[in-house]
Amino acid sequence: MVEAAQAEGVNLVILSGFRSVEEQTHLFFDVKAERGQNTDTRADVSAPPGYSEHHTGYSADMGDANEPETHLSQSFDQTAAFKWLQQNAAYYSFELSFAKGNPEKVSYEPWHWRYVGDRKSLEIFYRARKK
Ligand SMILES: [Zn+2]
Repeated sequence: MVEAAQAEGVNLVILSGFRSVEEQTHLFFDVKAERGQNTDTRADVSAPPGYSEHHTGYSADMGDANEPETHLSQSFDQTAAFKWLQQNAAYYSFELSFAKGNPEKVSYEPWHWRYVGDRKSLEIFYRARKK
């Protein structure tokens, strides 16, 4: 997918893919302490360890290498890379995990995409939904 984007002049990059529970523990608790956030506030922007889609290996944070200041920021949705993803990600079985107004009430994350192109990934992401 990255190569296809680059072939069209879009500098799509993967910022973060698989993350272990240990790495998520650091991201959740250490950054929470650094920023003085309470647990609810932190959970709006970062999944607690054990709950991140990054643990599945089927999620990736995407960026636009031409506009690094938008990395992991909602302003990423103004970049060429995001527009390319909106038009093309479905062809590669990627979808936005946390759209605006998502039912999980997770903050809008235009950079965070998940792969839903095989049976295992569908089981992971859709089992909870259809009940
Ligand atoms: Zn992410």
